[in-house]
Amino acid sequence: KPGSVLQVDALTDEILQGNRSALAKGITLVESNAAHHFREAQSLLQKLLPSSGKSIRIGITGVPGAGKSTFIEAFGVFLCGLGHKVAVLAIDPSSTVSGGSILGDKTRMERLSRQPNAFIRPSPSGGKLGGVHRKTRESMLLCEAAGFDVILIETVGVGQSEVAVREMVDFFMLLVLTGAGDELQGMKKGIMELADAIVVNKADGANEPVAEKTRLEYKRIIHFLQRSTPGWDTKALSCSALTGKGIPEIWTVVRNFRDAVEESGVFGERRKEQIRDWLHTVISDHLHFSFYQNVGVKSLLPKLEKDVLNGEKTAAGAADELFEVFYKR
Ligand code: GDP
Repeated sequence: KPGSVLQVDALTDEILQGNRSALAKGITLVESNAAHHFREAQSLLQKLLPSSGKSIRIGITGVPGAGKSTFIEAFGVFLCGLGHKVAVLAIDPSSTVSGGSILGDKTRMERLSRQPNAFIRPSPSGGKLGGVHRKTRESMLLCEAAGFDVILIETVGVGQSEVAVREMVDFFMLLVLTGAGDELQGMKKGIMELADAIVVNKADGANEPVAEKTRLEYKRIIHFLQRSTPGWDTKALSCSALTGKGIPEIWTVVRNFRDAVEESGVFGERRKEQIRDWLHTVISDHLHFSFYQNVGVKSLLPKLEKDVLNGEKTAAGAADELFEVFYKR
């Protein structure tokens, strides 16, 4: 298609000028699963790559109801007020399973979506987490090229997706609710150890004293946990996404974090590691895809699966046969 090169060039220019609808179009291209979009998407990314990377990337997680979207809206509006350009992306591991989706509801974040300096993108749908992970990363680069200097990536706190987000952001924030000590004990240690800050949300009204108590409990627990970022003590904070109390302080913490890790070199190191991780994710996604799309593998797999289930073949033996077919074709 002779036209598509020109189209990608035009799209590149528009994105670099900060045009939000061009950015949305570019992300749609990157998210496309259609094989014929792959080259155009890669050419777009290649052109925009030199203009990417100049943002602070912040991951935000928490159980449903913790107040993630309310917080992101309040935080985003606050940052726009400071003159920042804020992009909101999401990784939603549940969307493929349940059909429901975070950021999917268009009525959410209405105030933020009205800001001229904000861009909100619902989570990509389809594909397993690995694929979604890649698309979110590439979307993030596009946002940066469009001049967005704060990227907020939301994910639901259900496990696997936190690690995926931690692997693509600079700063990772865990939003929690006030709770009794028991609930705190039930909180997964692993998730707390991914966080650079644990933020007790809904610290307002009658809930405020309880929130402070919870914050102090987290502060005590953090002390016994592994740090997420070398050289940075994980912070225990509180805020109200509803009233905005504590929001400016959270931004101060993020800025202090950035100063500290940039100076120590951890910031750059981590980003390098993330790029390496990205490459390997793309490779393994690609291998996985081409293996299961292979005609020989496709026709042989059901029978071998049966043989393994019947105890006639070992899993490794069956896999070996499949790889023989795979490499021959
Ligand atoms: P999410 O599922 O984590 O995205 O949570 P939501 O942002 O949808 O919030 C869940 C509920 O908690 C909503 O009814 C919010 O209005 C409420 N909420 C969120 N943040 C606060 C807060 O700081 N204070 C209070 N009182 N309610 C809040």
